[in-house]
Amino acid sequence: NSKSKSVKDYIRTIVDFPHEGIMFRDVTTLFADPRGFRMAVDQMLHPYAGQRIDKVVGLEARGFILGGAIAHQLGTGFVPIRKKGKLPGATISQEYKLEYGEAVVELHKDAIQPGEKILLVDDLLATGGTAGAGIKLIERLGGEIISCSFIIDLPELGGRKLLEDMGMDVNVLCE
Ligand code: IMP
Repeated sequence: NSKSKSVKDYIRTIVDFPHEGIMFRDVTTLFADPRGFRMAVDQMLHPYAGQRIDKVVGLEARGFILGGAIAHQLGTGFVPIRKKGKLPGATISQEYKLEYGEAVVELHKDAIQPGEKILLVDDLLATGGTAGAGIKLIERLGGEIISCSFIIDLPELGGRKLLEDMGMDVNVLCE
């Protein structure tokens, strides 16, 4: 019965992707389902009813899908944080650690004004490295992060604790 399904029921796990030993949480099945997608977006919005939010910032790439829908619903603008070399205008960059090596994310310098209230969104919180770098970028531009919102948290990887230790409010729909 689709009425009693929860967000988690629409997410599929792919074993050994992108490499052996990884259980990849695949949200494309959630996004593809009309009830599932709406449920996820509605639940991500719910904690912020009545709060001032000026902009939604989404992390590449699935954070764009969620962030676009959430921004539309809130009536705010949407701002992307992208992997290095993708944004055309003047950017600021932030490095962060991956399991093997490092990565860089970027944000347009003029995308956030000091004091703006920001909601940061992505599909999944693992080690918190990606979101942590995003938080640093937003704060370097003077943005005030109201909260960080994810569909899934993998608590054993410590991302939530890392973000909370950075002073963030963190909301997740499931583990
Ligand atoms: P973190 O930086 O270790 O917290 O990893 C989170 C980032 O990697 C997010 O942008 C996720 O989209 C992506 N990610 C890591 N593991 C998964 C997964 O199992 N499913 C989907 N995305 C994942």
